[in-house]
Amino acid sequence: MKNPTYHRKGFGLKDVVDGDLKSAYESDLIAELKEGGNTLKRNGITIRLAEAFGFCWGVDRAVSMAYETRRHFPDRKIWITNEIIHNPLVNSHLRDMGIDFLQVKDDGTKSLDCVNENDVVILPAFGASVEEMHFLEQRNCEIVDTTCPWVSRVWNRVQKFAQGDFTAIIHGKYNHEETVATSSRADTYLIVQNLKEAEWIADYILNGGSKEVFLDRDKQAYSQGFDPDRDLVRIGIANQTTMLKGETEMIGKLFERTMMAKYGPSVINDHFLSPGDTICDATQERQDAMLHLIEEPLDLMLIIGGFNSSNTGHLHEIALTNGLPSYHIDGPSCIVSADEIRHKPPHDTDCSTTNSWLPKEPVVIGVSAGASTPNQVVAEVIEKVFSLRQEV
Ligand code: SF4
Repeated sequence: MKNPTYHRKGFGLKDVVDGDLKSAYESDLIAELKEGGNTLKRNGITIRLAEAFGFCWGVDRAVSMAYETRRHFPDRKIWITNEIIHNPLVNSHLRDMGIDFLQVKDDGTKSLDCVNENDVVILPAFGASVEEMHFLEQRNCEIVDTTCPWVSRVWNRVQKFAQGDFTAIIHGKYNHEETVATSSRADTYLIVQNLKEAEWIADYILNGGSKEVFLDRDKQAYSQGFDPDRDLVRIGIANQTTMLKGETEMIGKLFERTMMAKYGPSVINDHFLSPGDTICDATQERQDAMLHLIEEPLDLMLIIGGFNSSNTGHLHEIALTNGLPSYHIDGPSCIVSADEIRHKPPHDTDCSTTNSWLPKEPVVIGVSAGASTPNQVVAEVIEKVFSLRQEV
């Protein structure tokens, strides 16, 4: 019987790696902005920075643990099962430190065969699937588990659903690593990506429909052998921790109303379990800060974060829903010139280019960043924007 070693608290080297982390990811400009009430004006451009933005506690902890791992095992082969977080700068620094990323195959599974006995494997902040963890345990790897406690909290909830024979309805994106990891802990699950999908499913629960049409909709969204007529009688709600909080709440309430209407209030506890409070604090703070920021008179928003970062995408959606011109960029290189910006529209996989994005007159730009964006990247974007205009 193999006996894997798990490290879940780092190696007591936080003070040692702190200097490296600060020089790689912190910024004097952001400190200056914060001192000035999150406002800075130069060259006819006023930047208004959200009160909460960038690295969250869970990301900070995961990146710090990865740096500690390299120090603790200077000579060992180190893998990471995925991007530690969704930020290209951080991931490229880890590669430079000799930490290798497991490749994702075309079918979405990982190439795990390259991992050898006694290698060190880091699990990222959004966790790993049960199957991956089982494989690494069998290989007798040394596992550094940086899974954010907020994510583990959702896993506990999903496991409780399974014990009570409840199907987990997971509000998330089925190809997001966190949702893959969460769904692997459920016996039976159905992933809903948004309120519109949830409404379609609620209608099926109440009024029935064609099982074939249901199962043909999205084969990646449900567990093997899923039967909507059998598996939607007892449901519990869970979520990817970085979804839009308001949407998760609406989905929870929709299914509660649906099960109440179908089975009656006296037995609702036999048919419905609520999501509880599983949107993480950091996601909520950043979404609240965005809502607060867009109450101000802004001309446009720049939202900074990896293009595969779910929480960054949701910040972008908040700005767009409120009618503000908004661009999701992943760093300063997206700002090509005062006339041209490269950015990712919501729900598109490819980037677009927009011209004439920066007004010629004095302009107020709101800035926010997802939970995996270092301050240094935010600062570089702001410097680039300032540099587009001559001093006025
Ligand atoms: S966004 Fe939330 S769940 Fe994700 S790593 Fe940060 S604190 Fe944890």
